[in-house]
Amino acid sequence: MSKVLIIGAGGVGAVVVHKCAALPQVFTEITLASRTVSKCDAIAAQLSRPIKTAQVDADDVNELIALIEQERPQLVVNVALPYQDLTIMDACLATGVNYLDTANYEPLDTAKFEYSWQWAYQERFQQAGLMALLGSGFDPGATNVFTAYLAKHYFDEIHELDIIDVNGGDHGYPFATNFNPEINIREVTAECRHFENGEFVTTPAMSTKASFTCPEEVGTYSIYRMYHEELESLVVNFPTLKRAQFWMSFGESYLKHLEVLGNVGMTRIDEVEFQGQKIVPIQFLKALLPDPSTLGPRTTGKTCIGCVVTGLKDGQQKTVYCYNIKDHQDCYQEVQSQAISYTTGVPAMIGAKLMLEGTWTGTGVFNIEQMDPDPFMHALNEYGLPWTIIELDQFDLSHS
Ligand code: NDP
Repeated sequence: MSKVLIIGAGGVGAVVVHKCAALPQVFTEITLASRTVSKCDAIAAQLSRPIKTAQVDADDVNELIALIEQERPQLVVNVALPYQDLTIMDACLATGVNYLDTANYEPLDTAKFEYSWQWAYQERFQQAGLMALLGSGFDPGATNVFTAYLAKHYFDEIHELDIIDVNGGDHGYPFATNFNPEINIREVTAECRHFENGEFVTTPAMSTKASFTCPEEVGTYSIYRMYHEELESLVVNFPTLKRAQFWMSFGESYLKHLEVLGNVGMTRIDEVEFQGQKIVPIQFLKALLPDPSTLGPRTTGKTCIGCVVTGLKDGQQKTVYCYNIKDHQDCYQEVQSQAISYTTGVPAMIGAKLMLEGTWTGTGVFNIEQMDPDPFMHALNEYGLPWTIIELDQFDLSHS
């Protein structure tokens, strides 16, 4: 008997619920709660088994505590927004329930991507005998586990890591984001940081571009170096890393729109006065853009996300690439979502499953690469995100 409380009924939440509902022997009871309960009910109506739904404002710790006490889950899966991470962790501590999320905490007023706030909960989770698993999505999430798996099985020591996130999908809109637009735009307009020779180096957003040809004929894409939160924990947990970088593909149209929106101030995250009201431009922009959860039926093409690791094995240098390719329409046929929500929601379900079954245990706050990667890798193959590992003869993005 394991009951899970899932918070957040957006694109990712819908996939987590679909995948958990398909495993009744693990997730014997499911409650889906979010700010707008009608969105929970709409997801519940897509399922072939009943789940409970509830309304909650996850910015309010007391509301969360009341909901958790009423539902008594063994685990809370947080797929609301990064702004709610700390209130949900507080409520888990107050009620004695384990916690899992897919994105690190961000304060509303600064686009800062760092684990400091959540790592500060380490002692409190330890003292309470509870486990918090951070970053159980795809990136962060599967990419951290890919790195841990390669380090465990393919190398004696890893030195260089390039995480490459290609979305070769096309939704037909001139400009739309594949996950929450506010979070997505905050992330891609932030300064780039990569790890080089023992420290993080800052460069302007989108200032380093390379070309990457995906395997299995997914295509060749322009990728841009940017900061991504998993770099922070991976260089701590794999201290032999000398360089770690994150790359993401963007199309010309996306970048042009983003540049114009930035130039006219529409991506600002601070309040501005408008006709006697205070509005935050990026939140207004979000209201105008297509809802990512509606992109499923119109998105075609594939994602290709993976990690290229260089290091030493038996004194020899080698480079190994671990990746997953996922077709947007296959995801839509299975769970009525596009691949970005799917590739995030499936690892969230897998992390939850491993915690509930007692395969992954511990007390304290953990980044996902601290867990044994093997059962997670096995489950990716089983639940819709099969991966492939190939050795590369040549790989060098640094001189592009
Ligand atoms: P959406 O915007 O589609 O969904 C977010 C959901 O959270 C909405 O249902 C929203 O409610 C709800 N929510 C927001 N604020 C509150 C609140 N105060 N109380 C209760 N519910 C609230 O986002 P996504 O589904 O695209 O993303 C969900 C999470 O997944 C984000 O944290 C994102 O950063 C993360 N993510 C992680 C990835 C990874 O690979 N690790 C990749 C993609 C996303 P309402 O409907 O009322 O607005």
